[in-house]
Amino acid sequence: KAKSEGRSTYHFFEAGMDAELQQRRSIEAGLRLAMQRNELRLMFQPLLGLAENRVACVEALLRWDHDDRTISPVEFIPVAEETGLIVPIGEWVLHEACKTAASWPGDVRVAVNLSPVQFRHKDLVGQVKAALNEAKLEPTRLELEITESLLLTESESIIAALHELRGMGVRISMDDFGTGYSSLSYLRSFPFDKIKIDRSFMRDLTTRTDSQAIIKAVIGLGQSLGMLTTAEGIETEEQLAMVRAHGVSEVQGFLFSPPLQPAALANLLHSEVAKTQLRKKAS
Ligand code: C2E
Ligand code: MG
Ligand code: MG
Ligand code: MG
Repeated sequence: KAKSEGRSTYHFFEAGMDAELQQRRSIEAGLRLAMQRNELRLMFQPLLGLAENRVACVEALLRWDHDDRTISPVEFIPVAEETGLIVPIGEWVLHEACKTAASWPGDVRVAVNLSPVQFRHKDLVGQVKAALNEAKLEPTRLELEITESLLLTESESIIAALHELRGMGVRISMDDFGTGYSSLSYLRSFPFDKIKIDRSFMRDLTTRTDSQAIIKAVIGLGQSLGMLTTAEGIETEEQLAMVRAHGVSEVQGFLFSPPLQPAALANLLHSEVAKTQLRKKAS
């Protein structure tokens, strides 16, 4: 009797398991095999330096081709973080991004997103060094983007790892600035090289004066702290004109370029270099 009751409870649970949980389970199962099946790839989105009027940096963005569709990192990164799979996946991203960047013309930097979970792994610094060595990429050509949530713990070992990376010449950016908690205090916990202002502030930039005031203040803050600023999610000329007027260092967004396949990005960089050479010849 007891046994059959247990069974029916189990079946009840399974039938009642919500769609979201099932979705997560299937993502997890697929993700475990994604690397060996070569289903992961990187797209590359340029960040335009406004003073130089050229691509200053390119952000690597992860994609997962699975079951005839491409799954967004917004969907699978959280699952990868919960299961710890983000550690090997993140290591793959570092190697792949550095290898790709080593083939680009000029001194364009590559930006890699790091999950807080990767910092819990003891040898993150060693992983970064290995990726740079293998690709023969100068550390000064690598930027690491971290989110504010990372510093929630304010752990000394995380800050120490950031300092060690920075000592090597790697740049450290704060990503999605303005979305987390007590952002301002984080700016004191570590001397970031760059602040990336979250794209939610760009969305209503032309209609809301409060968003304008916030953007202006954050750019000013970056300037006083000696940090570069990037405006994420620039989609219109109007948004570009506004952040430019406030003195932002770099812009990233669909107006300039969406994330591109590696070959398309390389073409863009090569044509930019060709144009610069032409200008030099003409002058
Ligand atoms: P993020 O680091 O803030 O990356 C910028 C996101 O904004 C990208 O979404 C990009 O495609 C999107 N974006 C860029 N310009 C525009 C624009 O003008 N308009 C709009 N609407 N969107 C724009 P994506 O590629 O879907 O990535 C989402 C997030 O997933 C990233 O946000 C990052 O937090 C995370 N992510 C991506 N790749 C990796 C990775 O390799 N490792 C880790 N840990 N996280 C990653
Ligand atoms: Mg990012
Ligand atoms: Mg961002
Ligand atoms: Mg973002």
